[in-house]
Amino acid sequence: MDTIRWSVDKNVDEIKGYPQIEKAADLLRNNEVVAIPTETVYGLGGNAKSDEAVKKIFQAKGRPSDNPLIIHIAEKEQLEEFVVEVPELAEKLMNQFWPGSLTIIFQQKEGILSTSATAGLSTVAVRMPDHPVALAVIKSSGLPIAAPSANRSGRPSPTTAQHVFEDLNGLIAGIVDGGSTGVGVESTVIDCTAAIPTILRPGGVTKEQIAKVIGDVRMDPALQNEKVKPKSPGMKYQHYAPDAPLFLVKGSKSFLQKLIDEKRQHGLRVGVLTTIEGESHVHADFVFTCGERKQLETVAVKLYEALRSFNTAGVDIIFSEMFPNEGVGDAIMNRLMKAAGHQIISEE
Ligand code: AMP
Ligand code: MG
Repeated sequence: MDTIRWSVDKNVDEIKGYPQIEKAADLLRNNEVVAIPTETVYGLGGNAKSDEAVKKIFQAKGRPSDNPLIIHIAEKEQLEEFVVEVPELAEKLMNQFWPGSLTIIFQQKEGILSTSATAGLSTVAVRMPDHPVALAVIKSSGLPIAAPSANRSGRPSPTTAQHVFEDLNGLIAGIVDGGSTGVGVESTVIDCTAAIPTILRPGGVTKEQIAKVIGDVRMDPALQNEKVKPKSPGMKYQHYAPDAPLFLVKGSKSFLQKLIDEKRQHGLRVGVLTTIEGESHVHADFVFTCGERKQLETVAVKLYEALRSFNTAGVDIIFSEMFPNEGVGDAIMNRLMKAAGHQIISEE
């Protein structure tokens, strides 16, 4: 299949009739799949009501069929079509964070969405992306749009149209290029059907921000303990892994340098993921400076680009700094731990 790629000005307003937007909406209405920019990462969109379209998403990504998709909407009214009810707490969250990188789990009405999109569950994950291009495409299609990240399953999520092209060229109908995404990590997933609202996946909206709006919120215990089964089916898979093995390093700068030197003495090419604060202390074959520690949002924005860059650099082993579990640090550490297959090297 030929994958068509075209650019759209990020500042498009949400009007229908804009030809570049209509082109994407037409493909979606014809049950084709199209990559679109969102404020978190690029999504691979398809008609959430069509088994045919949803099947194409899973095939292009090579995604396991038990991992349900997030349904993207452009207007709150779209919820009525496929959600049983909107609990009060969910309403508060929507008012505060939509459009934005918060995905909310609802009970779904039967028989509306493709059962493959929700992996046969009675619930559905929904969000409204905060990106003018995504909103315009969804609105213009008139459909709820299922959209996982537009990468091959297991690979780092795409934050540019070029990343999408590298993974999915020839496998999807189109790529709408709207430039780099903003947040850099995926949305936070929160279950409001539980007695106490529970974060199933940390992401762009932090638990501190959520607690301010609804009070009590907890983290799914599976996020802290590998042996507990996660409530979010997708959280059990290893993800985001670069080609070379990645280790997270807990300890001093000299400890990190010692690890690097040892490997280099054995003839290995070593890559390091560090920050502005750390870069002048690191001597390795390839160093990626991933934002600033004291502003974790800047680390999130560059994280997937960093993970991809090690493949291009052709290193044999990668060491990464660790980050505090606060604010968007929760999401950064969650993705890094997955990318590293939970391998940590500690100084003590
Ligand atoms: P992705 O599409 O790669 O951003 O991943 C979506 C995440 O949302 C995965 O971890 C899914 O398992 C999770 N998810 C989607 N639908 C549900 C649901 N109904 N209940 C719990 N988790 C869900
Ligand atoms: Mg993904």
